[in-house]
Amino acid sequence: MRLISCALAASLAFTACMPAFASESPELRGSIGSKPQYVLISFDNSGSNALWERSRALAERSNAKFTYFLSCVFLIDRADRKSYQAPGESNGRSNIGYAASKADIAKRLDNIWRARNEGNEIASHACGHFDGRTWTKADWIREFTTYKQVLRTAWAKYGSDPEPEGWKAFVDTEVRGFRAPYLSASPALLSALKDLGYAFDASSVSKGPALPVHAAGLYQFALPTISEGPEHRPVVAMDYNMFVRHSGGFERADHLNEFENRAYDAFKGAFERQYKGERIPFQIGIHFTLMNGDAYWRALERFTSDVCTKPDVRCTTYSDYLKQTGAEAPVAVVPAVSRKVTGSGI
Ligand SMILES: [Zn+2]
Repeated sequence: MRLISCALAASLAFTACMPAFASESPELRGSIGSKPQYVLISFDNSGSNALWERSRALAERSNAKFTYFLSCVFLIDRADRKSYQAPGESNGRSNIGYAASKADIAKRLDNIWRARNEGNEIASHACGHFDGRTWTKADWIREFTTYKQVLRTAWAKYGSDPEPEGWKAFVDTEVRGFRAPYLSASPALLSALKDLGYAFDASSVSKGPALPVHAAGLYQFALPTISEGPEHRPVVAMDYNMFVRHSGGFERADHLNEFENRAYDAFKGAFERQYKGERIPFQIGIHFTLMNGDAYWRALERFTSDVCTKPDVRCTTYSDYLKQTGAEAPVAVVPAVSRKVTGSGI
């Protein structure tokens, strides 16, 4: 399989791509037609309580499970921001702010716990949403250590009711996946994740849907490029990338239906290609930020309701995918995928 580690410019055209190669995991292959079509839908940042509720309702009515890449600053009250310091940054700095209030955090904790109990996965999007392309292994470990500490103590600090039994064990053992902010990382990332016992990284981009690779002791997933728009140009299967494609990253309230339909058609087209073909898992990344109104959320909702209800489609989490396909069993370890800088999202 081919992972592409490349700097995706703001225009989101591929530039300076550095293809890297790694072996497929044999366990993940299967005979076409007899295996289910996996769809892995994930959310980045996971701040807004309104969108937690909207996504949980979507999961419930569509027979889907999602992976939430949560930024830990949303479990720190703005008044306590000085307690966080990212590598190379001053005390209290965050690129995405902090939680608005203790009540806001209490509600978010409740959403997180309910989502987890409903079968969804909580994974890490680090804390202050910094670009880690120059971070050392020690920098990554520091950020990840902070992350777990913030999650472990959040309920006792901000929860509106007593900490549920199992909360700390959940943080320690179930938060086992990572996606880098801006999909941007340094080569030291994988080694840090492996040392800390993470199971997967989902920060890469691939040319079309690709199987995960097992490299450097953990699984690496890549968001695919998919064909989009009247010219069928490739775009990363993420709302932000379509937002930039459609309107240059600026809100265009007058074209919401058009943008929604284009996003839906792109998701559905890429899905159908796999569903009727090789059945390689199809991944989509969405943010807890509405862009061009809620065009991309509406497209996602239509897509999820359409496909996740099919009997031979499994819309599930990254970890469940690994478990269900048997990929968690040891497979041949191949050399680490060399990573240059990626960066295609927010
Ligand atoms: Zn992000």
